[in-house]
This record gives sequence, structure tokens and C-alpha cells, in this order.
Amino acid sequence: MNSPRNSDKHDPAVERALAKLDPGDRAIIQGALDRAEKTEAELRHLADHDPLTGLQNRRRFRAELDQHVSFTARYGGQGAVMIIDIDGLKGVNDRLGHQLGDNLIRRIADILRERVRTTDIVARLSGDEFAVLMPQTDTAGAMQLGEDLRAEVAAGFPPSSEIGSATISVGIRTFGGKPGSSAEAVLADADRAMYGAKGAGRNRIALFSSEEEDGRAARRAQSTTARIRDALTHDRLSLATQPIRSLASGGVERYELLLRMTGEGGELLPAASFIEAAERSGMIQELDRWVVGRALEMLAEREKAGVPVSLHVNLSGVSMTDISVLEYIERRLDEGDADPGRCTFEITQTARIDDYETAAGFADRLTEFGCEVAIDDYGAGFGPFSYLKRIPFDVIKIDGAFVRDMPRNDADQLTVKAIVQIARGLGKRTIAAFVQDDDTTEMLREYGVDMAQGFHLGRPVDAAEGWASS
Ligand code: GH3
Ligand code: MG
Repeated sequence: MNSPRNSDKHDPAVERALAKLDPGDRAIIQGALDRAEKTEAELRHLADHDPLTGLQNRRRFRAELDQHVSFTARYGGQGAVMIIDIDGLKGVNDRLGHQLGDNLIRRIADILRERVRTTDIVARLSGDEFAVLMPQTDTAGAMQLGEDLRAEVAAGFPPSSEIGSATISVGIRTFGGKPGSSAEAVLADADRAMYGAKGAGRNRIALFSSEEEDGRAARRAQSTTARIRDALTHDRLSLATQPIRSLASGGVERYELLLRMTGEGGELLPAASFIEAAERSGMIQELDRWVVGRALEMLAEREKAGVPVSLHVNLSGVSMTDISVLEYIERRLDEGDADPGRCTFEITQTARIDDYETAAGFADRLTEFGCEVAIDDYGAGFGPFSYLKRIPFDVIKIDGAFVRDMPRNDADQLTVKAIVQIARGLGKRTIAAFVQDDDTTEMLREYGVDMAQGFHLGRPVDAAEGWASS
């Protein structure tokens, strides 16, 4: 990790070795190294881009969409996905040949590229299908862009143009706000809306219907409860481990455990997609107990194997008000061989003042058991510094919303620095969540943040398949 990409400098060891060579040899080796680097950069570009248009490819687009959808599901905000399909491209190929068909694809790609905002992501998904991800837009903004694109293509290829008329059909699906949908579902809904536009006569835009979505959300909530019950009884819950790295050494210091459920179709559902339903239906304590039980078993197993780890377990705010959850933790700690000092419970702050007392009491007990307490998502929503004085804790996890764009956002930088100062003043450690690139990692290290996690530093890996590499 952290290898500087596209750097024009070689490794210092290579530089030293080069300096020892005579100038003729150095030039030859330098040339070879430069060519290898160029090839590597080209390969990296090829892996992420579509050769015909230079736009991002489906693989890369999916990765970006996954990140944005999970981000909005967790931290709020709104975004939209647009699927764009050329109308009647087969006819253009048949009438004028494949080459002109290719030209049309390229020219439409150019229109998309020029029209979208720099923060939007444009990709060619397949043949004549494109997608735009608008990470920050509402329904009106997305529809405006869709209409602009449609109008510009139609105006650019009137019947009198060399290829005759060409138009596009556009499907739009917004995400965020409601309990999270998966990236896959968002893309499928946008695709469905696009087919709706085709069916309605082409050369138009269609929005994925939110009524349809509301109905489905209600059905989803009901069926989610049934599915959780089913997953609990049929052993279809699992845990993923996501590494938390020390910023000083780069090594893995701890792992956060992330709950997942396997759906009936074999698909893996992230906790974000069913936790709300579990909280509403009162099943969350049972899920939390399941995770605690597994976490303590894993700690004991690893200890026994001579490779101890430290684990972070998330607990719902609902479980904090339930004495039976505390009793369960205490009993499992007493019965098993897990070292409580290697178990950190992540608790979230909630908005109500009287919750402080509950949270403080809960954290007190965990500390008595010898466990660590981490304050999760610190800084999000209602989070005064006085909260930190009243709750016994060991670690603060800085909310990803401040970390994600930190290198480009002065206010985020100030917030993170302030949190680090307070934490240090209190003698506590900090973890930054949602780290996405080297610049952020570097900046966090400079600010004195102790640990960090995020896709860039290590993706979640199914715990049954082993542990993410250090
Ligand atoms: P519709 O209005 O329903 O979208 O009809 P369509 O003719 O555009 O057909 P559809 O979108 O279902 O299929 C895409 C067609 O585009 C299939 C193929 O003939 C053509 N196509 C796919 N990839 C390429 C490509 O790379 N270059 C060219 N020239 N044509 C392609
Ligand atoms: Mg088409």
C-alpha cells in the first residue's frame, strides 16, 4: 500500500544503484525502466477504460458506484445514476457500416464527457450503453442533465446529418435518503427506467418511479424482517473483517467486524441494507448478540493459534439500552477464553441528551469487563465535544464524511485536526474512516491520527476466507 503511483522518481534504492553505473549503462537501464513504467501506466489505464471512447469501463464504474451508494447509505446525501442507450444503432450499422456506427458511439461519448460536471463519472458499459454517476445531485438536477443530453444529441444529429437522425433514451435512478439499496439494484432500476423510455417511443428520459420504489421499500422492510429471522435460524449470517491500519507503521493493528447476511439467491447483503429493519422489528439485539458471540470465539481461536488479533464490534444504539445484551457479553467473556482487552466495542452517539447517561453507563460496564470502547462516526450529526467528557472511551472513530474529501476541503481538515487535538488532550487514540487515497493517508498521518481504514487501505474480506493481508 501507499506506493506512490505515477511517480516520476524511482525507489531510492534503485536510484542509488543507478548512480553507481557508468553513464552509458545508466542511460540504457534508465530507458528500460522508463519504458516499463510507461507500459505499467498504459496497462492500468486499459484495465479501467474503454478503448473505443476513452471513457471509464463497466468494471471501474461499478467500483465507483459501489463506493458512492454505500457512502450515501451510511452518511446520507443523494446521488443519481443515468443509463443512456443509443436508439436504433443496429440500423445505423446496417445502413452505413460499422465504422460510422463506431463514430456515432464516439461522438455521443464526447457529448457526455463535455456536458457532465467534473465530479460526475461517465462510462461506457457495453456496446451502445453509457452510464453517468452524479454523486451529488437531486432528482431535479439529474432530470435536467438527462434532458440536456437528450436535446443535445437530437440537435447534433438531425435527419439531414451525414448519418441521419440519431437519438438516445435515458433512464434515471436517484439513490440515498431511504434505507440503502445496493449498487446493483440502483443500476438495474436505472436500466429498467431506460427501457421504459424506449418503450414510450425513444428519444426521451424516464425517471425510475419513486412510488414504485416506496411500495418496494415497504415490501422490502417486511420481507427483510422475515429474512433476518430466517438467516438467524439457518446460519446465513457471516462476518467480514476490514483492516484498521496504524498510520505510523502501515501495519494492520486491528480489524473491524462487518455483519453480512446471505440472501435467498446467494447474494451477500451488507449490514446497512437490513440494520434499520432489524432495529424497527426488535431483532437487532439478537443480531448484536450473534456478532459478539462470534467475535469472542474468533479472538479465542486466534489466540490459541498463536496469532492474536484485536477486533472491533459494532453495537446498535438499541442494544445499549438493553441490559440483557450487557449480561450476554459478560457471560460470554466469563465462559470463553477471549482476552477482553482485544475486543473494542464501537458505540454510536445518538441525538438525545438523556442517551448520554445510557451510553455512559453502558460504556462504563464494558470498561469494567476489560474491553475497549470506541465512539463510532464521531462528528456526524449531533456531536458536541462535551459528549466526550461524559462517556468513558478509548478510541474515537472520525466520521468518514470528514475524511472522504479532506484533501480538497478546508473545513474537513480543520474538523479532523480539532478532533485529533481533543482526543490527544484526553489521552485517547483516533481512527479515520473511509480513507480513499494516498493524499488522505498522508494528511491524516501529518495531523497525528493514529489509525485509518477504508477501501484504499484494505477491503472487507470474508472472515471465513482468512484475514486481510497486513
Ligand atoms: P434500441 O433503439 O432498442 O436501443 O436499438 P438498437 O439498434 O440500438 O439495439 P440495442 O441497443 O438493443 O443493441 C445495440 C446494438 O449496437 C447492437 C449492435 O448492433 C450495436 N453495437 C454494439 N456495440 C457496437 C460497437 O462497438 N460498434 C458499433 N458500430 N455497433 C455496436
Ligand atoms: Mg441501442
